[in-house]
Amino acid sequence: MGSAPSNAANCFELLSAEPLLVVFIGPGGVGKGTLARRVVRADNHLWLSQSWTTRERRPSENGDEYHFVDRATFEKAIEAGQFLEWAEFQGHLYGTPQPRAPDGADLLLEIEVQGAEQVLATRPDAEVFLILPPSMERLEERLRARGDDDTHVADRLASAPAELEKGHQLASHVVVNDDVERACGEILSILEELRRRRRDLSSKD
Ligand code: 5GP
Repeated sequence: MGSAPSNAANCFELLSAEPLLVVFIGPGGVGKGTLARRVVRADNHLWLSQSWTTRERRPSENGDEYHFVDRATFEKAIEAGQFLEWAEFQGHLYGTPQPRAPDGADLLLEIEVQGAEQVLATRPDAEVFLILPPSMERLEERLRARGDDDTHVADRLASAPAELEKGHQLASHVVVNDDVERACGEILSILEELRRRRRDLSSKD
């Protein structure tokens, strides 16, 4: 990074060259996690944050989806200021540790809407993508396919309308996850366009 900005215009130039902060939100079961991992595999400049959670690991998970901890450990980390954001969702705590992305990498968070609101409060420039299911029937099918029991499926479906309403208010991009490959391609093109704009802004100095 160069010398300190001497006026507002310089300050904006520095900000415009900063790494992107990309946030995926959307109802549970919409496939945000799968999409996030797919996008990160296809995009070398994007780094996916690993969240902490107090919920149990699902049988379908291999263990690297989250850093799984007990509530006492999570609460200690909150007190120590270790989270960029955290929220309680359906009885479990979820949080993004203060990011340690490699220098210059763009950062991707896959979180729920309360967390996205916290992120936007401190980083209004964050690019929020709302990931939508093609239909509520497909959402239910996906929740069942990943092994959620009836109560969980009912809870997730019950919270989906509120999450979608809030999600539309927060998001700058809306992507329907009708097909992972297609949705991934759409997100990669949007990221390309955002980077092009960022380059254009920072070259106007
Ligand atoms: P799940 O239990 O289905 O893995 O996740 C439940 C919800 O928590 C999903 O909407 C997921 O995106 C969200 N989530 C995952 N990690 C975080 C996090 O670090 N912070 C917040 N606020 N939400 C998260």
